[in-house]
Amino acid sequence: MTSFRIVKDEPTGGIDATLRRVAASNADGLTLRIESMPEPAAGWLAADELLGRDELMTALFAQITGVRNRPADHVCAEWMVESWARAVAGLAGSALVCDRRLPDLRPENLLIAPYKGMVGATALRTGAMTALKGDGPAVDAGAAVVPAWIDLADQMHHGLKTLLEPMINWAGDRGLRPVRTLWQAAGDCLAQSLVWSGKAFTEAGFALELTEYLMGLGGEMAVPVDRSVDGAGEPFHLRTTCCLAYRTPEGGLCRACPIDR
Ligand code: SF4
Repeated sequence: MTSFRIVKDEPTGGIDATLRRVAASNADGLTLRIESMPEPAAGWLAADELLGRDELMTALFAQITGVRNRPADHVCAEWMVESWARAVAGLAGSALVCDRRLPDLRPENLLIAPYKGMVGATALRTGAMTALKGDGPAVDAGAAVVPAWIDLADQMHHGLKTLLEPMINWAGDRGLRPVRTLWQAAGDCLAQSLVWSGKAFTEAGFALELTEYLMGLGGEMAVPVDRSVDGAGEPFHLRTTCCLAYRTPEGGLCRACPIDR
């Protein structure tokens, strides 16, 4: 009898090649729109400007819409932060799970295309990244190298915190939503995003290990890594916080919501 061992493909090219692989992947009917773009095209915003300028944050917040009517402000704040968290977690986590590479997550390297106050797409301005020692194509592309994926995970945790903090504090300072709740909601988004990455790159075991490591680092974003499976046997993250969709006329309780447990 012949046995086959599934061998993970070696990554090729620079971070732009990784982004193309991520953007071409699909799970649960979802894809991530991630691009390479040195300067913001029409309709795009530089993340460092957005996060540093009250008028841009206020304008983004004002664009949040519900299905028919704009929800209450605290619901809009929750959705804006969760969308941001999903976008940056999807970018960082997918690159790490797909190719064991991490793009430069500094706000000055990131662009976003807002859509109705949410993040419709993200883009990286440069090819800067960190990769594992031995990733020849990444080294050829000028990557910084680290010895182990845990080092990439540490950098990812720090990068996500840096990107999330200004928006969460913006909402908290205006009394829109408790800061602690928003951090935990961001943690829920990160955990669910890594479920997606595990499926999209057939790396469920590694994605779970990465989730447990990131949450084990503690801090404001840490939530319990609890999962369940749907009727098709597909895993999903059981949230610690509720996204408040049920507070809108069109919303209901979902299978992941803590309210229902
Ligand atoms: S039940 Fe689920 S979708 Fe509905 S508000 Fe809670 S977390 Fe959001």
